Amino acid sequence: MERPSRFEEHRYLGDKRNQVVHDLDACTDAEAIDELMAAETFVCFGPDTLPEARNRGYRLCTRCDGVRQQARAEAEAAEATAAQPADA
Ligand SMILES: [Zn+2]
Repeated sequence: MERPSRFEEHRYLGDKRNQVVHDLDACTDAEAIDELMAAETFVCFGPDTLPEARNRGYRLCTRCDGVRQQARAEAEAAEATAAQPADA
């Protein structure tokens, strides 16, 4: 989806009400983003990264197909890394 114009400099947008962070580049749930904009309970992160959002207690939104696909790809990449011998 397109990033809301006021957040075009940001990729990650958190919702203070439920501690969920949206990846605006991968999020396909535009209604959730619009509702979040209207409620004005959003928060940005500095640096604008998922690890920073997680450090602050936010978890990645699971309502968006794009986010789910990306999370699965990251999990598979982590598994592939973990599966390698420690001394390789
Ligand atoms: Zn989302």
